Amino acid sequence: MRLRVLGFRLRHCDTTSLDIIIAFSYCFFDSLYLTGVGYQVFEFLEHISARLTDLAAKELGALKDLKKNEEGDSPFGIEDILYYLKRAEEQKFCVDFGDINKYFPVNLVLSGLFKIIQDFFGLRFDIIPNAETWHSDVQLFSAWDLSSSELLGYFYLDMYSREGKYGHACVLALQNGSIPVALLICQFRKEADDNPGLLRFSEVVNLFHELGHVVQHICNRASYARFSGLSVDPDFREIPSQVLENWCYESFALKIISGFHQDITKPVTDEMCSSLKWRRDSFSALKLKQEILHCLFDQIVHSTENVDAVELLKHLHPKVMLGIPMLEGTNPASCFSHYAIGHEAACYSHIWSEVFAADIFTSKFQDGLPNPYIGLQFRTKVLAPGGSKEPVEILSDFLGREPSVEAYIARKTRNNL
Ligand SMILES: [Zn+2]
Repeated sequence: MRLRVLGFRLRHCDTTSLDIIIAFSYCFFDSLYLTGVGYQVFEFLEHISARLTDLAAKELGALKDLKKNEEGDSPFGIEDILYYLKRAEEQKFCVDFGDINKYFPVNLVLSGLFKIIQDFFGLRFDIIPNAETWHSDVQLFSAWDLSSSELLGYFYLDMYSREGKYGHACVLALQNGSIPVALLICQFRKEADDNPGLLRFSEVVNLFHELGHVVQHICNRASYARFSGLSVDPDFREIPSQVLENWCYESFALKIISGFHQDITKPVTDEMCSSLKWRRDSFSALKLKQEILHCLFDQIVHSTENVDAVELLKHLHPKVMLGIPMLEGTNPASCFSHYAIGHEAACYSHIWSEVFAADIFTSKFQDGLPNPYIGLQFRTKVLAPGGSKEPVEILSDFLGREPSVEAYIARKTRNNL
């Protein structure tokens, strides 16, 4: 599948290392098929990577210092990163992130998320009692425009895992067109005697993300089914959900969706809110370098023939990861994240979407609060056209200018050590 990349141009791009990677690929493989799109993806990844190198080196230095304090002079390897990231978190905050997970009872989170989304987009969700569904756990909701009371669509919510059910969280478009119908599948554990029905914070973020896809589907008003619902460019599809994810880290929203499981009148504390945000932004340059490594690997293996995955990673690893070699005797490609698996040559699009989501959030929601006026503009200018307009046209119309990478870089470099 060839992606239609947004017509977005980078500025001040230093392609020195990019040239090295491409030259290396030409030497290393029989062929490297770089189309204009392929080159643009390399250019994008290299640009982001180069802008974050200084900070990533500083972050790596901090982790190396931690290891030196604990283990003396033994060399720092890629296998040390996760452990020392956790140690850095423990030293920075007294908050136990495991305790934060006791503040998110699933029903409280869901009603809070509905309230935030409804206030922001001018939508109302009504549960349809006794709706006929394929399982007693499944609920059906109707979605209405708050001001005109126009019916916009429906969505099914299938929240709990059960035997035989599809095993991931996702949104499926059941019906496109004038009355869209979506299905939101989650994999939460159902409340029972041995389980108070709590969500981990990562599940809260994931639920918000998927609800973003539901809203995206329901608010789409493209004339043709081909361009309606979630039928938008893969580069663009994640942007609305990634914009919404930001509110999972804003204290006003966290207070709405949280409550200690033994006394739900007690929401998360201010310290917990700032800890969650710090953890998201901390060591972000180093974490992103790892993601870029996956994207480059994905792009090269899908642009060449006869690839030896292990040899390729051996060469790419130290180039991207600040000199850290691949762990000898392993094949990291066998356990890449889901962003890199099943998205052939499209792994980069996750970062690409994040760039635009950061630009939207920073320029339109500087104070971190949902603004119903902006929310309605987002609904009408970004969600309503769906795939019927070029993504860059949609974004430029909403932002009032061409999109830029700067907000993303600023966010990644915000949490200086
Ligand atoms: Zn998504």
